[in-house]
Amino acid sequence: MNYIEHIGIAVKDLDEANKIYKAILGSENYKTETVESEGVDTSFFKIGESKIELLAATRQDSPIAKFIEKRGEGVHHIAFNVSNITSEIERLKKEGFVLLNDFPKEGADNKLVAFMHPKSATGVLVELCQEKPV
Ligand code: ZN
Repeated sequence: MNYIEHIGIAVKDLDEANKIYKAILGSENYKTETVESEGVDTSFFKIGESKIELLAATRQDSPIAKFIEKRGEGVHHIAFNVSNITSEIERLKKEGFVLLNDFPKEGADNKLVAFMHPKSATGVLVELCQEKPV
């Protein structure tokens, strides 16, 4: 794993959260994107080499809606940049970690992503992400 690519934060109201993070970071978000398959609207802020990804549910059965219902707004996941997501998935599975995705899937911000189960990572939802080859 190379570095923390972004931290994902579950929010109820994306417009409201955009204002808050604009005020905290002193910069505008650089993109918004809807990931239909996950039922989320996302908004990205750059902060040095890392990013903040705000996530708001677009429907009731979205994982973000469920997360907020259970735990309220807050940190949802930490994403690590990897060079080869397929080999990282295989490596972690061999180490005995539980992956939520056996194969990489399309994520926001031009990434291939896979998630590790929080139970195998001290309660933290870990995302692996690789820049999509162009
Ligand atoms: Zn993410």
